This record gives sequence, structure tokens and C-alpha cells, in this order.
Amino acid sequence: MTPVPLFDYLAQYRALQAQIDAALRRVLESGQLILGPEVDRFEARFAQYLGAEAGAVGVASGTDALAIGLAAVGVGPGDEVITVANTAVATVAAIGTLQARAVFCDVRPDTALMDIEQVPHLSGPRTRAVVPVHLYGNVVDVDRLRALLAGAPIAVVEDCAQAHGARLRGRHVGTLGDVGAFSFYPTKNLGAYGDGGLCVARDPARVEQMRRLRMYGFQGTPIALREGRCSRLDELQAAVLNVKLDQLEGYVERRRALARRYEQRLGPGIGQIRKSDDATPAPHLQVVRVAARDQVRGRLQERGIGSGVHYPMAIHRMPAYEHLGYAPGSLPVTEMLCAEVLSLPLYPELDEHAVDRVCAALDEVARGPA
Ligand SMILES: *Cc1c(COP(=O)(O)O)cnc(C)c1O
Repeated sequence: MTPVPLFDYLAQYRALQAQIDAALRRVLESGQLILGPEVDRFEARFAQYLGAEAGAVGVASGTDALAIGLAAVGVGPGDEVITVANTAVATVAAIGTLQARAVFCDVRPDTALMDIEQVPHLSGPRTRAVVPVHLYGNVVDVDRLRALLAGAPIAVVEDCAQAHGARLRGRHVGTLGDVGAFSFYPTKNLGAYGDGGLCVARDPARVEQMRRLRMYGFQGTPIALREGRCSRLDELQAAVLNVKLDQLEGYVERRRALARRYEQRLGPGIGQIRKSDDATPAPHLQVVRVAARDQVRGRLQERGIGSGVHYPMAIHRMPAYEHLGYAPGSLPVTEMLCAEVLSLPLYPELDEHAVDRVCAALDEVARGPA
């Protein structure tokens, strides 16, 4: 039986090879490698896709998109930023680059998303921002979060790294809060062939500020007006993204169809993650909950089925973040999920038979030793 990998970059490249190769050659022959027409065009088109009227700023990674977005809403040294601990380390690393402090909110057991009802109890005079993570392409109710924060000077910076194409009440993630941050890491719903990221903001002045922050604080002239950094999306990656953006809605639709098939085919013994209310997710990872997860993974591997764990250790339990002072058990739902979650293959090029095989194998191995 052919193996089913967790992610298959080559299948997508093969399908788009003629267009990708032509786009890359066009950039190489243009002599313009940094902040040229491909980046301009991608920023404009992705902003239009999202309905982000104030525009978008291409940056070097999703981590930088978050850091630049947080800086643009005024987060600085000593400030507190509320987020979750079941996310990519990137989310918390971005907060750290600003010398701000992450404050962790536990998550809901059904959706694995930030339990936003807890946010008001976690915020204090130093809280400057909340970073909800649209984990696995599922959507945090940012409208409700904003209502809970009403009156407080606290910005919402959405981590959309796993949720390109997801919507809440018809509006795209990234446009629901003050700032939206995206990653184009190769495995994401929209992936480059290297690193890349992008941020959008509701307020046009903030978009301009993010544009300055990505390049040394320059505005038109090479004179730094406010200390910035170097974080640019490059022309080669933007050219790839321009080709793939045409496919994004189709890819997301395909991910939805495959996720539906998983939901129907997974056996009753397999715990599933619920989609949030009023949301149209853009499934990024097909995550289930199983007991004895690591054994299950090994037995899937023996059957040629790749799997992953997002995430095996909550961030507050990692050595690098011990200084934040969270004891074991302090985020009980997050910790419980970290022990049980298992990511199954999900990408547009996967076929239905492969999904059926994964479900059958999982059913078999999760029932315990034969
Ligand atoms: C991938 C990811 C990021 C970071 O993106 P990079 O481009 O790797 O810096 C941030 N948050 C989440 C939830 C992610 O999955």
C-alpha cells in the first residue's frame, strides 16, 4: 500500500510546476529581488481576498507578522499579552521579542480554542493586547472577544497562521480584530517555498506603521523615523504566492470536503474537535483525540500512515518559558489536550480513499493491541 504522509509538498508543486517555474524565472530575470512588483501585487491581492480594505504588509515570517502587529498596537517592554499555550512557539516568541510578557488563557475542551470568557479575569492594568489563535483553521469568536473587552484599551491581534480562508459570520479571519497576522510557512493553507508572512490592520495608519516597522523605520527615504527591523517578504516567495493565491479558495474547499469525510468516517471511539459556532473553518490540520497517543502514532506509522502532534508540550511547560511561573496543572484543559491530540494527514492533494484508509487504520489501532 502506498504510504500516506502527513504533508506532501511535492504533489502540489507537480500540479503547479509550469506556472511556478515561469514565475520564479520571471523574478530571477527581472533583477529585482526585494520589495518589487511581485510583493506589491501579492499584498494588494491578498488584502482584497480578505476584504482588508486598508491593505497588507508582506514580512519575513508569521512570527514577524505577529511581532510587527503587536508593536503597531503599542505593545512594548513590560506589557502583558494574553494568549494560549497550545499554539506554535512562534506565537509566544513574538511576544517575547517585544520584551512583553505572555499571560496564558486556558482553552475550551470541545474546540481547543481560547476560552474567551476567561479573558476579562486575566486582564489587568498592564494588558495591552490579546492574541487569539485560530488553531487548526477553526475560528475564535473575535466579535464576542471584542465585546468582552469593550471599553478597555486592549487590542486584538489575530494569529491566522493556520486559518487562511476561514470566516466568522461571513468575514475573513484577520479582519475581525485590530491586526491579523498570517504565515506562509510551506505547510500552511497558503504556503511559500521558504519563509514568509503578512499582516493586515483595520486602521490604515497602522498599516503604514507596519510598513515602516518591517524596514528599519523608513518611510520613503532611507531615514529611520522609529526603530524598526528588517523583515521583508522576498520577490521569489511573493511570486510563488501569487500563483498559489489563485488556488486558495479551491484548496480551502477541498480541505473542508476532506475534513467532512474524516468526520463521517472516524469511528465512535475517536474523539473529535468541534468547529466553533457561526464559523466557516478552513481546516488546516485534522486533529483527533486518542488515549495512548504515542503508541497509536507508532502503530499508524507501521501501516505507512504519517501523523503529527500539534502540540506535544504546552508552552508554559517548556524550559524557555519557565520564568513565566506557570506550575504543572495551571492550564488543565490545555495540558489534557496536549496529551491526547493527534494530527492526521490533510492537504488538498489527498484523495478520499487515503482518508478512508487513515480512518480504518486509526479505528483498528486505537481499539488497542490486537
Ligand atoms: C506557523 C505558525 C506561526 C508562525 O509562523 P512562522 O512563519 O513559522 O514564523 C504562528 N502561529 C501559529 C499558530 C502557527 O501555526
